[in-house]
Amino acid sequence: THTQTQTPPPAGLQVAIRIRPQSERELVEEADICVQQMPGDANQIVLGRDKSYSFDQVYPPELDQKSVYNGCVKGIVDKCVQGYNTTILAYGQTGTGKTYTMGSGSDTLSSGVPLDQQGIIPRTVRDIYAQLESSTTAEDREGADDGQNSPNKDGTRQEGGDTGKNRNSESYAVSVSFIELYNDTIVDLLHPSADLDSTNNLTPNQVSIVEDRKSGETYLKGVTKVPSKDADEVFAHLRRGSDARTTASTNMNATSSRSHAILTIHLTRTSSLGVTTTSKFNFVDLAGSERLKRTNATGDRAKEGISINSGLLALGNVISALGDLQTKRERRRESPAPTPGASPKHSRGVSRHTSMSSGRRGLGPTPPLKNKSVTSPALSVSQKDSNSFIPYRSSKLTRLLKDSLGGNSLTLMIACISPSDGDFMETRNTVNYANRAK
Ligand code: ADP
Ligand code: MG
Repeated sequence: THTQTQTPPPAGLQVAIRIRPQSERELVEEADICVQQMPGDANQIVLGRDKSYSFDQVYPPELDQKSVYNGCVKGIVDKCVQGYNTTILAYGQTGTGKTYTMGSGSDTLSSGVPLDQQGIIPRTVRDIYAQLESSTTAEDREGADDGQNSPNKDGTRQEGGDTGKNRNSESYAVSVSFIELYNDTIVDLLHPSADLDSTNNLTPNQVSIVEDRKSGETYLKGVTKVPSKDADEVFAHLRRGSDARTTASTNMNATSSRSHAILTIHLTRTSSLGVTTTSKFNFVDLAGSERLKRTNATGDRAKEGISINSGLLALGNVISALGDLQTKRERRRESPAPTPGASPKHSRGVSRHTSMSSGRRGLGPTPPLKNKSVTSPALSVSQKDSNSFIPYRSSKLTRLLKDSLGGNSLTLMIACISPSDGDFMETRNTVNYANRAK
């Protein structure tokens, strides 16, 4: 008989392809289909006549939001709750389903939208709160977790209560920030007026990216972080930010398809022994990947196009370098004689095929880090070393995601594509971009 195997834990970097269904219009026009899931191999697509590509997952048009969530997101959410920084990116041409897949459009967040239509963000947010609730309840029953198996912790003791829920002495706090990155301007979507001066012009750099050299942590100075006690509060902020995104675009005489929107959930958990674990969950609805039409490329439009392409280009380079690193680590692990003196820490969490948890098990409990600031797991010396050639610094997008891309963090890129022949060129560009990441 058939034995059910456990779902493997998520790899450090995963790339998925999602093919949206044909639109009404494409159906009416009877547009030809130019991309399909490979018959007999669920993780491959065939593009055009005969070119095939394989990915970690492929979601054909008939697979719904829940399938995407359970297929490639759920495992990552579990890890984020345990303390790993996480980034989910939606890449692709405008109109291919990035916002639909993320579930960040204000329309998909209204209460009228059926649950099965909801995208990754609402599902993740509910899941995070459910896990936080149940873990605090479980600790009441089972006694305190000393936090020794969690990353991202420091040894500091929290005096006083936190802003989050508190059952006995285990507590958690969740806060949300939401920004838009347009060219080199960061707009705080949860406090957009702060980014407008008296003449209603945008004043750039109100929010700036800061990197803590010692810890390697990156954060946004001056950004609004709103504490949120439950999922509905997060959704309210998300809706507000999503509306602000539209307004900000209008003020900048641009369309939101040219900007990146980044929602970040900040998670802090404090165990009953006072060990604090922090993690970040970034949801990135990237700018449309389409090339600007030459006829449009004059003046501001040209600047837009060039600048946004450079953000996506930088991201592509970073993801590609991380993919190479991951492959190298796999090879090193497969080789029979391990490098003398190599610490197992170097390899943990980044392999595509090896479970993070089993890698960690071999290490035994990680000692609490020095009792200064809250430290992220991505910040061990080994990670800094191995990441030194990853070109994070080449764009604001990659700078601000630095501590959540690579290292011990988990990254999922979902490349969204259209199935229709008319989009073939852009689809091919997207598939090639995604393919570089492996
Ligand atoms: P993008 O953010 O990439 O520009 P959208 O998410 O706005 O694209 O999607 C464009 C349109 O296609 C929307 O009307 C959206 O509802 C629809 N759509 C996209 N993907 C799917 C899907 N998998 N199933 C059903 N409708 C989809
Ligand atoms: Mg969109």
